[in-house]
Amino acid sequence: MSGLSVVTRSAEETRGVGRALGSVLATGDLVLLAGDLGAGKTQLAKGIADALGVAEPVVSPTFTLAREYAGRVRMLHVDVYRLDRAQELLDLGLEEEGDDVVTVIEWGDVAAAHLPHERLEVRLERLASVHDARAEGDDDDHRLVTITPRGPAWSARDADLDRVLHGIV
Ligand code: ADP
Ligand code: MG
Repeated sequence: MSGLSVVTRSAEETRGVGRALGSVLATGDLVLLAGDLGAGKTQLAKGIADALGVAEPVVSPTFTLAREYAGRVRMLHVDVYRLDRAQELLDLGLEEEGDDVVTVIEWGDVAAAHLPHERLEVRLERLASVHDARAEGDDDDHRLVTITPRGPAWSARDADLDRVLHGIV
């Protein structure tokens, strides 16, 4: 691992990153998953759900906006890929609801300015696009996963993140 980024080579490895992150999450935490359609945000959310003890299969909330899952810790899973959904998200009143759930938001290329500043940001990118499309071989399944703690409370948890991410892929 270099810094807080890992390369995954399959959806299962990305779910593994989600499980690792999920192991340090607690109620009140907000995780922002950024990346293009098909980058692997929902796969990562599935891994987080596993770690939170969610038994029900996690499905993409693209058409429902938000879905709540019971687990050892409750998980609120939100998808605001479409820009016109950003206002709907704000209307949900995340701040009131966020205290007793882990909130996982899949986010496209819309500005995250309206979200609480204190959050764990996870960006997923197809590796071929990172390498200027010059990468050879069958790395269609490779993703660069960059993890950025935002805000003082999350920054203080850097060591936790390092510990759970170390050596997982
Ligand atoms: P998003 O939620 O970002 O739109 P999904 O998680 O729904 O993306 O879909 C990602 C797709 O890419 C899945 O079909 C998955 O099997 C595939 N895939 C291939 N390699 C990876 C990888 N390394 N990580 C995550 N998904 C991958
Ligand atoms: Mg998705």
